[in-house]
Amino acid sequence: MKEKLLLLIKIQEYDSQIFKLSTKKKTLPEQIEKLNREFSQFEEEIKKNKVKYDELKSRHVENENKIKKINEGIVKTKERMLEVKNNKEYQAMLKEIETAEASRSDVETAIISILDELDKLTASVKQDEEVMKHNKNKYEQEKKALEDDLNAVDSDMIACEQKRTELQNDVPADLMAKYEKIKKRNKGIGVTSVWKAVCNGCHVNIPPQLYNEIQKSEEMFSCPNCNRILYFKDMEKPF
Ligand SMILES: [Zn+2]
Repeated sequence: MKEKLLLLIKIQEYDSQIFKLSTKKKTLPEQIEKLNREFSQFEEEIKKNKVKYDELKSRHVENENKIKKINEGIVKTKERMLEVKNNKEYQAMLKEIETAEASRSDVETAIISILDELDKLTASVKQDEEVMKHNKNKYEQEKKALEDDLNAVDSDMIACEQKRTELQNDVPADLMAKYEKIKKRNKGIGVTSVWKAVCNGCHVNIPPQLYNEIQKSEEMFSCPNCNRILYFKDMEKPF
């Protein structure tokens, strides 16, 4: 193939690579952001059972304290009963104890249902912790891969630009200017292959005569439709 055209094809490869890298530089931080957002949402959701579990635990402690207080009250009342002088006072104290015992019974019932709920939640909380551990691991790995990718973008870009500049030195300035102009007008592609008389840039058929010339002539030809510089490539043969 024509030497200058070969150079342009390589330059085009680097230009496409540079374009991909600059897209990555924009999209990778967005992907990282999205991943972080999704993980915090998941974290918030999976913590719900644990939050409920902790609430019940503290309600359990509160209720145990209530019982302790009620029992202390009953003991004091019983001590006072020993010093009571008349029946009316004695009856009042008995009533006091009865009321205290009734409320203790209510608190005990509440404790039983709290313990029941805690029992049920324990398995869920444990399971959630396992899921959390697994997902956190996965999230951290994915995040690291994206960050590594992003960190490599700048150095890859510099390497591509350097190689491109080296190649560019061997291309005549007018051809280079022509390539740049076509590239600018055609979504970053200035050189493209043609196969079975179809331009790979715009996918439009080119005249058979032109297709023949591209394969035989040493001249450089452009697509009549998109104006991209064309080169013949047999798509059925490996490079
Ligand atoms: Zn075309």
